[in-house]
Amino acid sequence: MQKKNMGYSVAIDGPAGAGKSTIAKQIAKKMNFIYVDTGAMYRAMALFLIRNNVAADEKDKIEEICKEAKITIEYRDGEQVVLLDGENVNGLIRTEKVGNMASASSVNGEVRKKLVALQQELAKSAEVIMDGRDIGTCVLPGANVKVYLTADPKVRAKRRFDELTAKGEVCDIDKIEADIIERDYRDMNREISPLKQAEDAILVDTSYMTIEEVVETIMGLIKKNKEA
Ligand code: C5P
Repeated sequence: MQKKNMGYSVAIDGPAGAGKSTIAKQIAKKMNFIYVDTGAMYRAMALFLIRNNVAADEKDKIEEICKEAKITIEYRDGEQVVLLDGENVNGLIRTEKVGNMASASSVNGEVRKKLVALQQELAKSAEVIMDGRDIGTCVLPGANVKVYLTADPKVRAKRRFDELTAKGEVCDIDKIEADIIERDYRDMNREISPLKQAEDAILVDTSYMTIEEVVETIMGLIKKNKEA
């Protein structure tokens, strides 16, 4: 597909806990790409909704109030910083509560329209590796390399559990697995831009792979693409 107004781009899609952000961050560093974490934008929007006392099922209210959210992205020392009304919210959006609200509110067309525009803008001027659920299918359909990263739900739940526990959050692994399965279902079955493998994406199942092996595999795909 012809790319318009875009720099070189790599799209990484897949369900929660497949390892997208860990892998994308490492590749960005090695290849000197900008890493764009689109989930963080949906999470910042979710935080905005929670702060405004909007419930996940208040569709009309979400549609209206999301237009007021001022979400911007900056890069500080190579790290993506998400600003909500000018406030750095990176430290506030990684909770299960915000994640579940992000999953629920991201079904909304107005929310998606606003954040997809921001994501496409970021990809215009730079070489990016962008991760999310709809990057290869909707945000950057002309991406140079597309990867669909997945893993067994039990493996993903264990990874999320370890991540949250390391941060001092008290959590229950069975509840995390149930949330992951529910989130997968919602992400894959929503009407607008559901999570699915793009036709031209390469499937990488990370269940029994180390981080290094996944990074090597995807770097290999990028190098091959750049040489072609
Ligand atoms: O990837 P992360 O878990 O941070 O994303 C939070 C939620 O945001 C996902 O469960 C998904 O519903 C939504 N999301 C999305 N499209 C993206 C990225 C995230 O719908 N491109």
